[in-house]
Amino acid sequence: MFISEFYRSKKPVVSLEIFPPKKDNPVESIYNTIEELSALKPDFISVTYSAGGVGTSEKTAEIASAVKNKYGIEALAHMTCIRLDRAQVASFVENLKQNNIQNILGLRGDIPEGLDPRDLPGDFRFARDLIAEISGNYPEICIGAAAYPEGHIECESLEKDIEHLKLKVEAGAKFLITQLFFDNELFYRFYEMALKKGVNIPISAGIMPILSKSQIQKMIFMCGASLPAAIVKILNRYEHDPEGLIDAGIEYSCRQINDLIDNGVDGVHIYTMNRPEIAKRSIAAINRR
Ligand code: FAD
Repeated sequence: MFISEFYRSKKPVVSLEIFPPKKDNPVESIYNTIEELSALKPDFISVTYSAGGVGTSEKTAEIASAVKNKYGIEALAHMTCIRLDRAQVASFVENLKQNNIQNILGLRGDIPEGLDPRDLPGDFRFARDLIAEISGNYPEICIGAAAYPEGHIECESLEKDIEHLKLKVEAGAKFLITQLFFDNELFYRFYEMALKKGVNIPISAGIMPILSKSQIQKMIFMCGASLPAAIVKILNRYEHDPEGLIDAGIEYSCRQINDLIDNGVDGVHIYTMNRPEIAKRSIAAINRR
């Protein structure tokens, strides 16, 4: 089923994100995680592609296939395009099609430090090039794209980044999933600005529960998300109490989710970090309503 159809029939669409096991671990090592996540009955589960450049892209299709064909949950396969040529894109998409997968999140990928994107090999410079390639050639695929409530870290301004986001919609993106954020007001501001610019497709809000100080430090360094005072206070208060930090972090993200739902969000996308108990507690907040 096309993910765009979920957004037509329900609100909020609930999705979970997982990443392939690290290099030497077999794909099967994630099956227990998928089984537990499937029991939560999300609308779809997304599987990342080569995140952080660790070379796990070949596992994406295999895991997405298990999500769909073994566990019966709709799958969204992420795909990054830097360094790829058209033939590689075609081969990845054909593989997905053979595995009954109909949804792709079309991404550029992070540029390795110190490199100029123009010096990288491949046929695609921006995500919108990949999105145009897939939506133009594969009507049997529904394609989505990434969005950034605070603007993408490389972009000079949120306004400019939303202009680029609009190009992804014009290229054929049918839904958006956002980068994590901790302040809902930033999401609402972004949503209004995007709508005014004509970005009129469903947007799922990306929520990452806090699990540790180092995880948050790494994420904000990588993506530039800002930290509200409430989060800084949680990190300080539970500095020597890892369990207490997780409880407070999940409570915070549940409050975020409830507020988003109260404000009519199209979808909630939970970054599970392959921890089913985190997803379980976050989804419980939605089900309790
Ligand atoms: P783009 O939309 O191409 O944007 C990249 C930058 O270029 C932005 O600053 C944008 O403003 C700018 N830009 C776009 N078009 C133009 C233009 N025409 N002229 C000038 N500038 C332009 N990474 C992975 O490696 N694997 C994953 O599985 C993965 N999944 C993700 C899932 C989500 C929901 C999100 C939000 C991000 C994910 N990422 C993943 C990270 C993503 O690859 C990075 O954020 C990357 O740096 C940008 O990807 P993009 O698709 O947003 O790129």
